[in-house]
Amino acid sequence: MQAESLSLFSARRRYAEPTLEAARDVLRRTFGHTDFRGLQAGVIGEVLAGRSALAVLPTGGGKSLCYQIPSLVRQGLGLVVSPLIALMADQVAALKQSGVAAERLDSSMAPAARSDIWRRVGEGSLDLLYLSPEGLMQPSMLERLSQVPLALTAIDEAHCVSQWGHDFRPEYRMLGRLAEVFPDAPRLAVTATADARTREDIRNELRLKDAQEFVDSFARPELALSAERKRGQGHQRVLELVAERPKRSGVVYAGSRDGVDKLAERLIAAGVPALAYHAGLDKDLRAVRLDQFLEADAAVMVATIAFGMGVDKPDVRYVIHADPPAAIEAYWQEIGRAGRDGAPAEGITLYSASDLAWAMRRIDSREVDDAVKMVQMRKLRQFYAMLDGTGCRPAAVRRYFGEAGVTQCGACDLCLSPPQAVDVTEAAQKALSAVHRLGGRFGRGRVVDHLLGKSKHAAAAETQMSTYGIGKEFSAAGWRDLLDQLMFEGLLHEEPNDGRPLIGLGEPDGVRAVYRGEQRVSMRRTPAVTDSDATGRRGRKRRIGGDNLEVGTENAALFEALRAWRRDRAAEQHVPPYVIFHDVTLADIARRRPSNAEELKGVSGVGQSKLQRYGTAVLDLVRRH
Ligand code: ADP
Ligand code: ZN
Repeated sequence: MQAESLSLFSARRRYAEPTLEAARDVLRRTFGHTDFRGLQAGVIGEVLAGRSALAVLPTGGGKSLCYQIPSLVRQGLGLVVSPLIALMADQVAALKQSGVAAERLDSSMAPAARSDIWRRVGEGSLDLLYLSPEGLMQPSMLERLSQVPLALTAIDEAHCVSQWGHDFRPEYRMLGRLAEVFPDAPRLAVTATADARTREDIRNELRLKDAQEFVDSFARPELALSAERKRGQGHQRVLELVAERPKRSGVVYAGSRDGVDKLAERLIAAGVPALAYHAGLDKDLRAVRLDQFLEADAAVMVATIAFGMGVDKPDVRYVIHADPPAAIEAYWQEIGRAGRDGAPAEGITLYSASDLAWAMRRIDSREVDDAVKMVQMRKLRQFYAMLDGTGCRPAAVRRYFGEAGVTQCGACDLCLSPPQAVDVTEAAQKALSAVHRLGGRFGRGRVVDHLLGKSKHAAAAETQMSTYGIGKEFSAAGWRDLLDQLMFEGLLHEEPNDGRPLIGLGEPDGVRAVYRGEQRVSMRRTPAVTDSDATGRRGRKRRIGGDNLEVGTENAALFEALRAWRRDRAAEQHVPPYVIFHDVTLADIARRRPSNAEELKGVSGVGQSKLQRYGTAVLDLVRRH
């Protein structure tokens, strides 16, 4: 019965003229949205006119509609290249729910399924076809597709083409050839993260020299950002942060597989529905955990960066970095996975000077050109400058992406409680001299003991140094913070020494300038004088996302009933719940309490196909609750 109603309300209707009006009609009927957002109309207009374009829109900005709608309005098949199967599968499932004829083709599919898709391509009844770059660029595939009229080719996650970006995929480089193979189809490259240099690379590689560029603001007003320095490994702090956000879905990123396993174990032991995910786990287990996470109303995914790209779960309420990434691009993309539904969400990063030192060593050990290393090092430093800086975080990120006229967000930790800079130059001089006297032979703990005059088994040679015990003004924690600060500024340098890092002097010019008092050193807050102060700052005001989902107590039962109903429909069809309706859509229904189909259609996210499929059931739930 469902199949029948589908064909009645198919999204597939070719328009005589591919105008923006036709596109708006599809937006309303098929996707149930009132109007285009941000730069969508501009991008879509360009593609409808048959011209190629590059669109950089923030996560959640509606990139996929930019190629989905022209594929429905223009004659021919829309080809979409996407790097990950999970991403494609999700989009295809969501499109089918909206009555769009979309499929994904890959080599793992059964021959019968493949030939069915080819049959539909041949008869022109398919609107969109999703392919991986490797799959598309196979000569036989290109040959076959070159016989087919195309509405467009879309390259999703286009930043993967650039080695200056953070997620370079060599197979993306082949996509430049699409210009020759399909000379008549406009090409649309879309991404959420690309600085000016990456954009230039995309244009060169994908032969989009004359294409118009659309770069939207990177602002994500629903995201509240914060960052704090780690105490030790930081796992205890992660546990606290997760415990403060119960009944919410979140992602916790850790830097290593081992770190992921340990953190997940601790969270599970604390009663949190946590799932571990990294490339060391069996492929099937990973797939099961991904499904569990997508299908849960509240689950915490603890993962390495193996988890992420293309995971479009819209109701992730927070992303916590237990270990920081290595560049602003990666940071923005990773925290961008929170709040895709537009409801309030949080991005929280824990970082330390050792994380910085470790990331630098990793870059240094890579087998890439020195020029690439230099760029990566610079990106790393810029990222830590933001983390440890004193100005609005989103503003710093947006300026980094080249946005002009950026104002403060008013919602990040630094906007909410602006830090006061404290001059610690004199203490810095003491610490630098101590490190110098100790000859770079000791780790951080030992340097602190030396400053406090508490070294165990200290040789006479050490206790007689002029720096021994000169640092009574701070506690051990205070000195550790100051040493971190000096590392962030490049004034101290950590040597790996097989996991027992030694501290030495950093960049000589800077060190000299501090000794002479020509360069001042300041810190965000006064270093702890006693060890118990060190934890005091954690009383920061809690901000927990979810306000847009506030439906009022009188509608709460309806909202929960709608969610439960959605879970059942999703389970029946083996799709994630958000493919049926997003939380924000259900919340809107619960607030508005539509009493007929016409009113239900007015809710954003309710298109014709969904109205046809689910309208009666939803209206019935509204009546009964
Ligand atoms: P991304 O740019 O991250 O790929 P998506 O294309 O997944 O974003 O869209 C993010 C969300 O915004 C989706 O839930 C989508 O339905 C919604 N959306 C996209 N365009 C509009 C619009 N014009 N009006 C309302 N919602 C929209
Ligand atoms: Zn701010």
